[in-house]
Amino acid sequence: MREFFLEYKLVILTVSAILFALIFIDVVFRSAKHKIKKKKDFYKKNYGDGVVIYAGSAGGLLSYQIDDTVGLIGKPDLVMQDKKTKEVFVVDLKSGKAPLEMEKYHAFQLAAYFLMVEKNFSLPVKRGIIRYLDDGNKENSVENSDELKNELFEQVRAIADAKKKISKNEVPQLVRNHNVRHRCEVCEFRLECPQVLV
Ligand code: SF4
Repeated sequence: MREFFLEYKLVILTVSAILFALIFIDVVFRSAKHKIKKKKDFYKKNYGDGVVIYAGSAGGLLSYQIDDTVGLIGKPDLVMQDKKTKEVFVVDLKSGKAPLEMEKYHAFQLAAYFLMVEKNFSLPVKRGIIRYLDDGNKENSVENSDELKNELFEQVRAIADAKKKISKNEVPQLVRNHNVRHRCEVCEFRLECPQVLV
């Protein structure tokens, strides 16, 4: 037996290595297939029979340049296309409780995504959805429109102007128009703002 093993040692080791590699590849392949299936099931259950055009978890940052000095960058959670109607829509997933109506700043966030998606994928976007995973998957949605985009441009330019003034110590008079601490937590002015909610 010992002689047999020594004589065929190389062959036995090679065959074992190949078998091990095949089992490993099979396990990895099955696990990848399982993950893809789980993802597809999730999309299908939550968003119907749509095609995923972009998923923020797997895609890079998208961008849109408003003018020479001001640009937008971001990562929408999902960009889907309805298989039947071919309509494209953007979905952003949130935690927490769903408000009765979409918050304006969420509408602006979606409007920014509309611009990025239209530029990066050359597809018109029909609407955007904010989906609350912790609140029974409730949704608020907003239609894509020139009006919303123009409002976003105004907001972004106002922020860019304010930032310029802040950098030159010409701080504009800020008047907080809300009592939502979370908005201050994610606001880019929170470090400089005298009215920040903490
Ligand atoms: S940090 Fe200041 S500017 Fe930003 S949301 Fe809060 S109050 Fe408004």
